[in-house]
Order: sequence, then C-alpha cells, then structure tokens
Amino acid sequence: MKNNPFPIKQCDALELSFDEQGSAYSNNYGDIYFQPGIGLDEKNHVFLKGNHLPENWSNKSLFTIGETGFGTGLNFLNTLKSWNQTISQTDNNKQLLHYISCEQHPMNKQQLQQALSTFPELDIYSKQLINRYPQFLLYGLHRLHFKQYNTTLTLIFGDCVDAFNNIDASIDAWFLDGFAPSKNSDMWSDQLFKAIADKSHLSTTVATYTVARKIRESLQAVGFEITKTKGFGQKREMLTAKLMTDDKTMDKQPWFYTFKSSKQETFTIIGAGIAGLSIAQKLQAQGKKVTLIDRQKQPCLETSGNPQAMVMPSFDINDSPEARFYLTAFLYAIQYYSTEFYHPVGVHELAFTDKQIQWQKRFLQQFNLPNDLIQHYKNGLLYPQAGWLDTQGHANTIFQQLDNYQQDEITSIKYIDGIWHLYEDSLLVHSTETLVLANGINIKRLMPDYEWPIVPKHGEISYFNSSDMHNTIANNPHIQLCKGYITPSWNGVQTMGATFEHLPENHWFESPQTSVQHWQKNTELWNNTPYAELLKQDVSVQSRAGLRVTTPDHLPICGGLINQQLFKKDYHDIRHGKHWKQYPTPQTIDNLYVLTGLGSRGFTSAPILAEFLVNQMLGQPQVLNKRMQKSIHPNRFLFKSLKKK
Ligand code: SAM
Repeated sequence: MKNNPFPIKQCDALELSFDEQGSAYSNNYGDIYFQPGIGLDEKNHVFLKGNHLPENWSNKSLFTIGETGFGTGLNFLNTLKSWNQTISQTDNNKQLLHYISCEQHPMNKQQLQQALSTFPELDIYSKQLINRYPQFLLYGLHRLHFKQYNTTLTLIFGDCVDAFNNIDASIDAWFLDGFAPSKNSDMWSDQLFKAIADKSHLSTTVATYTVARKIRESLQAVGFEITKTKGFGQKREMLTAKLMTDDKTMDKQPWFYTFKSSKQETFTIIGAGIAGLSIAQKLQAQGKKVTLIDRQKQPCLETSGNPQAMVMPSFDINDSPEARFYLTAFLYAIQYYSTEFYHPVGVHELAFTDKQIQWQKRFLQQFNLPNDLIQHYKNGLLYPQAGWLDTQGHANTIFQQLDNYQQDEITSIKYIDGIWHLYEDSLLVHSTETLVLANGINIKRLMPDYEWPIVPKHGEISYFNSSDMHNTIANNPHIQLCKGYITPSWNGVQTMGATFEHLPENHWFESPQTSVQHWQKNTELWNNTPYAELLKQDVSVQSRAGLRVTTPDHLPICGGLINQQLFKKDYHDIRHGKHWKQYPTPQTIDNLYVLTGLGSRGFTSAPILAEFLVNQMLGQPQVLNKRMQKSIHPNRFLFKSLKKK
C-alpha cells in the first residue's frame, strides 16, 4: 500500500468520447463502458443474474455490493432499480442496500449526464444520482444517500486496490466490471484479488464478464470456486465464483480494532448538542429505537447554541490527517444540512501579513483544488461553499422528528446484566442496551476512572447590531475570517468570535460564565489588521459562552470504548516492538460508545462522525477510510502513551 492513497488532490482527468449512438468510450483505457444498445441487458445478465440477485438479497437486512469501476454508474442504477422492485414488493423498509464502488478516472456531472441519457428507462434513478454525485472529484470516499430506496452509495475515487484495502466493509456480492484485462491489466492485479477475498465472507459471490485465464487463476488463488456460465450476446462465456475459505488477513494494528454490535435495537445518547442530536437522527432514520437525553429541555442550547455556526474545511500546507478529515467532514456536512438552515455565503479568509499571503499562495499552488472549493479572492482566500448554519432552526426541526427525548441530568452510569442503567443522583431514570456518551467534558464525570485526554476551553462570542457597525463589516456578504471570525448580518445582528481560553479544572463542570471583557478579547483577535480601527466603534454588544472540548491532536474522539485496564496489561510491552501478531484484539466495554472532542468545529464534523458511529454500531460499511478511523480512534492516546513509556 502506498503511503497515502487518498491525498487532498483532484483525480486525474478522464478523456471521454461518445460515438454516434451515444456510447461512452474512454481514451485513457481505449475501451467502451458498455456494449451499444445492449448495455443494460448485459449488466442484468452478468452482474445481477451472475450473483443470483435479487434472490440472494431477499430477507437480508443489509446487503453489500462491491464494484470495481463505477464508470457511468449504469451497473449501480440498474441494481438500484431492481432493489427498489424488491423492497416495494415486500413493503419492507427495513432492508438496506449498500453499494461500494471505486473509480480511478471519475466522470464529472456533465459527462455522467450525457452517458446516461441513452437509458431513458433509468431516468428517475439517473436524475437522483446526478443530483447527489460529488461536485468535486477529489480522491477518497464520497457517500451518497438514497433514502427513498434504503440505499447508500460509497463512491471511492482512487485505485481499486487502495479503495478496497482501506474500506471497512463485508461484501456479499462483487461486480468485477473494470475494462477488459487485455486493455487494463493493471487493474486485475493479485493485490486486487487479495483485497477482494479479505473483504468477503463464506457465502460471498463474484460475477464478471471475462473468463480470461489470469482472472480465473487469481480468483482460485484467493479461495474462490469458479464456474463458467453462459455469457451475454456475442460473448460465449462469463465467470461466477463463490468464496470457499474465510482466511482473513488480520489487521496489522489490532490495537485500533473497531468493533460492531449489530444486534442491538435500543440506543440511548447522553448529550443533545450537535454531536448527540446528529447520532439520534441517524439511528432513528435507520429504524432503531432511540432516546436522546440532556439536562436542557431541548437540543443545542449549550455550547451548540451559538445562533450562527461556521461550517468550513480546515486546510494546512502538509495534507495532514486533520486537514483530510475536516475536508471530508465538510463535504459531507454541506450535503447533510437542509438548505433551509445552511447558508453557503462563503468564508473569506483574509490575509494581512506577508506570512499569511505567502502561505495562501503556496497552498493554492501546491494543491490546485477546484475553484468552487477554494480560490484566491481579494486580499485572501474564498471558500465559496462554506458558510453558517442556523443552529436553532436545524436543531428544532430534528427535535420535532425525534420519538424520545428525555430531560435529565445523568450523574452516573452502571452496566448490569447486559443493560446500561442511567442515574440522576441516586435515582434510576433510564435503562438501555446501547449507550453513547456525547456530553462533552461531562463524560469525565460519568467515567471518572477512565483516562480521557480531553480539556475544555472557554469560548465566548459577541453579538452586535449591524446598524451600529462600520459598513465594511456590516455589509460584507461573507463570513470574514482571520484569527477571529465575523458572520454576515442575519436579522440585523452579527456574531463575532471566538475567544478560546484556558479554564481552571475546578470550573470544568459548571455552566460557562460570560465575561465583561468579551468584546475587548474578540476585537483583539483583529489587532494589527485594518479591522482593528473599524471594530473600535461604540457598539452595543452581548455575549454567549460555551465550552469547547479539545484533544491533544485536534481531532475528535469517536467510537466504541475499550477496557483500558486490560489493554494496559495486554499491551504493557508494546514499546519493545514485539510483532503485532503477538497482541490480542483489545477487550471492549460492552455496548458503550463515545463522541467528544469536537473543539470549535463541531458543526462541520458532527454529521460525518454521527454517520461513522452509526455505521460502526450497526456493523455497516464505513463512511471513513481505515486511516481516518484510526485518526479519531478513542484508543489512540493510550496506545501512544504505552508505546512511548
Ligand atoms: N461499472 C461501470 C458502469 O456501469 O458504467 C462500467 C465500468 S467500465 C467498464 C470500467 C471502469 O473502471 C472505468 O470507469 C475505469 O475508469 C475504471 N477503472 C479502471 N482501472 C481502474 C482501477 N485500477 N481502479 C479503479 N477504477 C478503475
């Protein structure tokens, strides 16, 4: 595996042409995407019939398909159509389809639209795909939800081996649909077949139109039993296969094991900030019984209660895990939030010093990202699709949809006979199978003996009336960002933020206090810029304080919790460099999960983290690649500290 299979980078351009009948042809590979006139029948015969579909997916609560080469998405759309027939016949909205496909040379939206225009019978599905298709063709995972069809598409832009080595999923059926081995031998590599076997289980099936000897031998070599069956049209034969052994490559870093508990039906989340609220919404959408508990009477009234919350990526010059995570999170968040509440007004990151100007220049040159994502603008950078969320509008709408909300301040938790018991003081107020802690710094109080490397920072925003402010600031349509930020006017009011201060430990669990110095501190963030003068005006301001939970590496903590006592015992000598195979998979704490450490970027990161956690809890294919999973893993700090000792 290469060092970094998914850098922050646009994919290589696709050279595409169309013949007179509208069939798509790739100049990169010198091959057609489908046979003119019979493309759809061929997909049906080879991939659906070849994998015994729809029979094989009937009665499965989750069915997962893996495909090599997304191309025009024809295979996906044809599958979606057949799946829709299945779920509408059975009136069953509990079955989920997860389709994972990879693509080295993705089409852009226009190309996709043109290629699919020759399939009017798929029109209703194609339109939805084109609508959701990634606007930015960046390497890595892109997740598209088709809620109406209980279907999720994970589209991985990059090489197929990287894609399937880095995805956390168990595939039920494979559609091997790359260009012909004679035109694209690189794709049909031994590493690909190894990755395919690793992501398969005993009854996994494979179908492909090619019967080339190399493909037959490669499938057999990794444990598949192959059968030649009747091919489609001119092609005499095709190949189907079934996995006969279940010999998985172990994860080389067992300490980062992510465990799943797909059997549970009842879930409770403590903490109704944007983290807990997003998890509750996603679990309920999957038909689970969910209770969201908070000491406030409704969600997003504490730290997540600032009226205008920024949603934006966070780049650095090094393509760091942090930058990659926040870019992925941003792209997911802007799809997740409703257009009613998300205002993509653009964030204007101002550069006043030579250092800032040089940094921005270097960044733009080095990454060469699409203009709609980031561009040079006046004295700085513009993130055109970044913006702010009306937090209360969003939270109230989700709150109305939630089945169970409970107002209680949970002060302790106990696990007894497979059930989590939640107490307010000594009174038992709730019991549940699966518990998620999303209550910021207060998780420390609920699990006092657990080592949490989190620290809260005190953050305060100031608001002022635009009519009191200098025009340059009051009439700016974008969020203005330097060390601090100023939102554009909303109902005549603007928000300026935010302080980020040390908080003595004896105040960690109290309601954060507002201070009389907030305006001074927030304006100081603009010192040595032309804004300093403009902000000195005599304006009437109010403020709001919150706690931002931070981690040493600025990334959130998200996932199932391991038993730290046992981990310390089992891994006490990890620093001596013993072979990874000598270490056991860490013991977990039953059905206990956490999401915290969102810092001041919670509204950008919460939607994808909630999706990640729900995927993990329900044993579904993951929205984050394995590297990203490790970078937010709850066990990473303990592991590092043992390694260094
Ligand atoms: N399934 C597609 C459809 O329904 O339209 C057709 C796929 S087309 C025959 C093969 C696709 O594989 C092309 O889109 C090509 O860019 C992609 N591809 C080729 N080599 C690849 C690789 N190593 N990794 C990922 N995708 C690859």
